[in-house]
Amino acid sequence: MAIEVIEIQDVPNDLKESEVWTVLGAGDRVVPGLAKDVARGTELSKTLCSPRGLYTRLEVDQVGPKGVSFVDGPYLDGKFLAHCFEGAREAIFAVVTVGPELEKSEAELFAEGSSVEAIVLDVVGSASIMNAFSHISNLIYEDVTDRGWQTGMCLQPGQSYWDVTGQREIFQVLPAERIGVQLLESCFMLPQKSQSGVIPLGPELKVHSDPDKSYCRYCQATRCPMRQEPAIEVSL
Ligand code: SF4
Repeated sequence: MAIEVIEIQDVPNDLKESEVWTVLGAGDRVVPGLAKDVARGTELSKTLCSPRGLYTRLEVDQVGPKGVSFVDGPYLDGKFLAHCFEGAREAIFAVVTVGPELEKSEAELFAEGSSVEAIVLDVVGSASIMNAFSHISNLIYEDVTDRGWQTGMCLQPGQSYWDVTGQREIFQVLPAERIGVQLLESCFMLPQKSQSGVIPLGPELKVHSDPDKSYCRYCQATRCPMRQEPAIEVSL
């Protein structure tokens, strides 16, 4: 059965300097020595980033002790994933990117020896992709809560609970080349400033807020609507 894939090309590109500082680990502080680079990088993100994404919804077949299977879909292997899917009826599979231009500029800055500017631009890219992913998560969240369902934590391959090879399952489901994202043999994505994830959903989804089981505290996605606990501050 063909799945319906929703493609979103008009993701807002509205990064704020404060979000770059958060990803840099400065919290509410502005570090004077980096202020110009952060301001410049944030401004550049308006032209260098073109956020876009696509997602689909799959029906859960079975949640076992060691993984989750889907109707006409892949098997997601992992006890933590199974734990997060307790009570789930469906899942959203999503891939989002800000495109390749920012990475090209970053490489040029490194090549000309402007390492600090390049590193700050890299952080700008990370903050931009987090925002883009959060924007698409918001659309999903609003749609799901309108139906009276719950959303769980957004699960991403490459985190400590899910090996990066989990990307293969997501790319098996989604035609990510439509938004210019390719999965490398290493299971990393190109452009690098791309994110993928799987979000469990359902009217009876068991939402876990036990801090020992949540990874949100390590995640700096300030706009994520599925956050289960505040992020801890990482000092610069
Ligand atoms: S805040 Fe939590 S749910 Fe949101 S992207 Fe980060 S880890 Fe996932």
